[in-house]
Amino acid sequence: MPNIVIAGGGIAGLTLASALSRKGRPVTVLEARRREDTRGGAALAMAPNAVWVLRRLGLADAVTAAGTRITRYAFRRESGAELKTVSFQPLEAVWHESAWCVPRAHILEVLASTLPPEALRLEAPLETVRWNGRGFDLSGPFGRLSADLLVGADGAHSIVREQLWPPAPPQYQGFVAVRGILAHRLLPSQQDTAVQTWGAHGEFGYSAMGPDAVYWFATFRWADPENLPDWTAVLTEMAPWGSLASEFAHRTPSTARLIHPIYDRVVPFADLGIPCTLIGDAAHWMTPNTGQGACQGILDAWVLAEQLVQTSNVRTALSRYREIRLKRALRVARLSHMLGRIIHDPRHWPQNLVARLLPWTPSTVIQRAMAEAVGSPRQLGLE
Ligand SMILES: Cc1cc2nc3c(=O)[nH]c(=O)nc-3n(C[C@H](O)[C@H](O)[C@H](O)COP(=O)(O)OP(=O)(O)OC[C@H]3O[C@@H](n4cnc5c(N)ncnc54)[C@H](O)[C@@H]3O)c2cc1C
Repeated sequence: MPNIVIAGGGIAGLTLASALSRKGRPVTVLEARRREDTRGGAALAMAPNAVWVLRRLGLADAVTAAGTRITRYAFRRESGAELKTVSFQPLEAVWHESAWCVPRAHILEVLASTLPPEALRLEAPLETVRWNGRGFDLSGPFGRLSADLLVGADGAHSIVREQLWPPAPPQYQGFVAVRGILAHRLLPSQQDTAVQTWGAHGEFGYSAMGPDAVYWFATFRWADPENLPDWTAVLTEMAPWGSLASEFAHRTPSTARLIHPIYDRVVPFADLGIPCTLIGDAAHWMTPNTGQGACQGILDAWVLAEQLVQTSNVRTALSRYREIRLKRALRVARLSHMLGRIIHDPRHWPQNLVARLLPWTPSTVIQRAMAEAVGSPRQLGLE
């Protein structure tokens, strides 16, 4: 049985560790952060594709217990006027699962709880990776470790990718994302609806996260990713989205605010011919515009684990995983990229055009576009 080391204990790395542990495959996860640092973060939309995987890991009910089921997507103008409301039902029919809004920290906690204590090594940042012709020599403050199979699940700034693959610098997309969670009770009629407002320079959206909290996000153009806006500048940027957006931003406690410059890296990673691969953001860093980054990482983890279990030949498993997942995940990343471009286009006409067309666009067309991002179980190559 190969000695498997997973660099990174985020959503993708922990899902892989959980899937392999369940099948009796021992793994070591090296996670740079301390436990208390994994407790923050905002919420994540878990689309039916991710919930489908979590269900097969026996974790869907535990994960969604802290979240809210989302059955509709409501597109609005800055004035609050409705552009279009679209049901998630067709996606539910394909995956036999719903979409949920769940706190990220809760997902991590549930995944980590499935691992034997020795599998997850916290405060263990991987610093150097060396292929010695037979296996990997890994080192960091934790000392030295060897691995027969190394999986880079170490996120957007992956050390594994940086040290083993040719450079593929990320591209700044010209906008920042601001997120927050606050105590707020939405009307019962709005609890199951994800709201998205398209404005002149970005978007603002929110959904319930449990009965007493709201998760909100906003994106807006910002020239310098090295100098992010402070909260006063955020409030100014959010003013055009109206009183609800301003109220959410004002009332969000400082500990529940996040600001990130948005990059992507839509560059395939090559098959190096050695037992190493990438999953999640390390493999395909995408903008948040399809809400699929973590979901795609969960699908990667599931497919990779299944392939490793189905064949004892690691090289075959890795190439099957790459074949099934990479093209598909990069397609979603390109879709996200394109949406990000339209929403933040400085010439304004693309988003104005979409806003004009939306009310007249049949729901089936929008549902088809959503289905394109979320995919189908058949595309996992496992049915
Ligand atoms: C504004 C915004 C909104 C988003 N909304 C959604 C959404 O609604 N739904 C969705 O599916 N996705 C969403 N995403 C995307 C999602 O957050 C990411 O795709 C997802 O977190 C990637 O998971 P990952 O496990 O690949 O990487 P990460 O979550 O980045 O985890 C990587 C882990 O590796 C660790 N690490 C890094 N370097 C090392 C090292 N050298 N050694 C050891 N450990 C290391 C890190 O500490 C981290 O814990 C959003 C992203 C943004 C920016």
